[in-house]
Amino acid sequence: MIETHAHLLDEKFDLDRDTTIARARTAGVDAIIEVGCEPANWQKTIAFAVAHKNISCVLGIHPQETIAAEPAVLDTLKNLCTHQKVVGVGETGLDYHFETSPRDMQKEVFIHHMDIARSLKKPLVIHCREAYRDLHDILTGQCSKPGSFFGVIHCFSGTLFDARELTDMGFLLGIDGPVTYPSARNLKEVVTAIPLESLVIETDCPYLPPQEYRGQRNEPSYLPLIAREIAHLKNIPAETVTAATTIAARTLFAL
Ligand SMILES: [Zn+2]
Repeated sequence: MIETHAHLLDEKFDLDRDTTIARARTAGVDAIIEVGCEPANWQKTIAFAVAHKNISCVLGIHPQETIAAEPAVLDTLKNLCTHQKVVGVGETGLDYHFETSPRDMQKEVFIHHMDIARSLKKPLVIHCREAYRDLHDILTGQCSKPGSFFGVIHCFSGTLFDARELTDMGFLLGIDGPVTYPSARNLKEVVTAIPLESLVIETDCPYLPPQEYRGQRNEPSYLPLIAREIAHLKNIPAETVTAATTIAARTLFAL
């Protein structure tokens, strides 16, 4: 399995980061993608990936942090993203739930990330919360620019309609712990209907633990629980889910 979205540099792992990585390995997680989504953490994120053979990273500016996105910061981002351990650009996107940054600024910075991803031919890791209409409009608008872009809608939380639109454009959907929540009817419907080939699995740890660990810290070793729920919903063996999502992740991030 490949953990496609982790925040292992979060302080919640300060006391047991190495054993957490070891537990993930034991659980069958062969590779981890660490997400550095604040400019202050970019260098540290690259160093962390360099220090671990099975860890790669993506770098970007979280939509809740876009206030920090001055032109020089975006130039730095582009330079750092050329590093061979950086396998994608993000997380970036739109978050209208908290709106700690103005929407126009979020859109502008998101488009900058798209330009960087396109020029480096690396995938985008997109964060989208309560903004699926605007996300769709921006992605469609960007299609007219030369060069292609591709990526994953991390921690997908939209409707089946949104899921179909985005996967029709070639984007993958990242499926996380919430798929295991009994109340997540909408997400379960999405996972049931969307072809397995369009899904990757991720924990977004330390956030969003699967149902059995709710209220606790999340970690990459819980990834099999997400695969198991997808298998249950699609009525297929868990091994089929882990094999297909691993191929999808390896292809997307060129691992
Ligand atoms: Zn994240």
